[in-house]
Parts: sequence; C-alpha cells; structure tokens
Amino acid sequence: MNHKIENRTTKSPFPHRIALLLLAALLLLVAGCSPAGQAAANADGKIRVVTTIGMITDVARNVGGEHVEVTGLMGAGVDPHLYKATESDVNRLLNAQIVFYNGLFLEARMEDVFEQMAESKPTVAVGESVPVADRLASPQYAEHFDPHIWMDVKNWMRVVEKIRAELSAFDPDNAADYQANADAYLAQLQELEEWVQAQVVTVPTEQRLLVTAHDAFHYFAKGYDFAVFAPQGISTESEAGVDDIRRTIDLVVERDIPAIFVESSVPPDVVEAIVEGAKARGHDIRIGGSLFSDAMGEDGTPEGTYIGMIRHNVQTVTSALRGE
Ligand SMILES: [Zn+2]
Repeated sequence: MNHKIENRTTKSPFPHRIALLLLAALLLLVAGCSPAGQAAANADGKIRVVTTIGMITDVARNVGGEHVEVTGLMGAGVDPHLYKATESDVNRLLNAQIVFYNGLFLEARMEDVFEQMAESKPTVAVGESVPVADRLASPQYAEHFDPHIWMDVKNWMRVVEKIRAELSAFDPDNAADYQANADAYLAQLQELEEWVQAQVVTVPTEQRLLVTAHDAFHYFAKGYDFAVFAPQGISTESEAGVDDIRRTIDLVVERDIPAIFVESSVPPDVVEAIVEGAKARGHDIRIGGSLFSDAMGEDGTPEGTYIGMIRHNVQTVTSALRGE
C-alpha cells in the first residue's frame, strides 16, 4: 500500500507542480509585486519604512536619517483608534521593508494587517518597549494596556532606543549612524523632559486636574503628577453618555477647575457640552485650548513634531490651569 502511494507521487509530479504554482501566486498576493516575498529598497537605496502615528514617524526619521525613506500613514488630526487601512496603505505596507506601529491595541482596526505583515518583514510594536511593570492598565479594556505611552517623554525615549535597535539589526552597516542619530535625538528628549518637569511645578498641586474628552493622558498624569479625568474613556470607540458628561460637570464644579481641553483628533462636542453645563450651574470655566493627544500638528509647523507637540500641550495645560 505505502509503496503504491509513494510510486504515484513520484511518478506524476503534475499535482505537485500545481501546488507550487498556487503557492507562488499566494506569495505574490501577499508580497505585492516582488517575487521573492521581500520588498526592496527605494530607488536611492534607502530603506522603506512605514509607520502609523506621526510621533513614531518623527522618531523613525530622526534615527534613520539619510538611510531611510519613512512613510507615515496617519497625518494631523487622524484618530488611530478608529483608523482603518486603505487600499493604498496596504500597498505601502506590502512595499515596506520595516513597519513600526505603536501596538498595545492603539491601532485597533489594523491588528490583522500587522499580523499579516509580520510574516514577511520586521513589523514592530514599538510601544511594547515599555516594560510591563511601567505600563498602565487600560481603564476601558480589561485585557489591554493603556496605549498612550508617548505622553511621558521618558517612555518615548525607550521607543527611540527600540527603533535604533531594529534599524541597526536590519542594516548593520549603518549601525554607527543610527547610534549617533539616536544619541542626538535622545539628548533633545532629555532636555524636553527637564523642561516639562520645570513647567508642571508652576501649577499648584491641587489645581493639577486635566479634564479632556478622551482618556489619553494617564501616562502624562503618572509621569508629571497630575490627576486626569475624561468622560469618553481610553478609546474614542466609545461615546460619552449623558451620565458621563453629568459626572464630569459635577467634578469641575466641585474642584473649581478653571479650564478643560479639546483634542485635535477628537470632535469637541463633549467638551463643549461640559463647559455649557458647568456655566449653567454658575461655574466660570473655559476651553483652555486644543491638545495634541493621538496625532501631531500639521507638517511644517512646530507642533508637527513630537517635541513641539509635547511643548504645546504642556504650555497650554499649565498656563490654563494657572488661570491665565
Ligand atoms: Zn487615544
């Protein structure tokens, strides 16, 4: 019996060949146009890097320097919690040689795509460079961590180190350049961290309550000794209900909070409703400004960089909470 079957497979290679052809076709589908399943460098020989949120794009450009061509999928004002990969995004990902995303369930609707990309190229969730002991639990999803790690500059320095390590492993010939670039950028982030520390202490401790629409500021709160409150939860996927808004109005009235904040990537209606409600109860409160929570500002503006975004947020929050 066995002998017969063996005979048949060796003597008629036809089905085997069809299987190989099918496999090749599948690989082509998965890997776009490159037959080996490996995406190639761009025309200038630069490594094709694809990133998700602008903050990661900025790190990849700073560390990769002249050796990389970085394409960020999510621009100013884009909400990563709700973002779905478009057809052209999928093509960019297929042509990428390395993919950097935040992970920790930030880009919740792209998880499947990243899983697929991980089969053919380094696909790195940079947020996982924050050790588990230093991650915050998601107040919304029991099985996930809070993904908004960039809000504490100390965490973001770990991400710089992670991206440096990944680029160096991929392209060891230029490891010394990646190291030098990372060191220079880390020095800027260290300076930023010291500046943030000096700014936050100008707000009296009892006034350090940051109220925003969605819960993106827990790492900021932990890193810089603030309390935070957001009616909308950690992902913008959920909507704030009437009860959430009423609870927030109670809080700002009780704590005599002078300002609350809108976010560039979240519609302002919830925050506006809180301001209206608090005013109706005779409490003097205003919108203290717009913060960059999950997206940076426009390209070419100071807030279109990670450092500029953090400086803007800290300046806006501290001056509004001091009552200026
Ligand atoms: Zn968020």
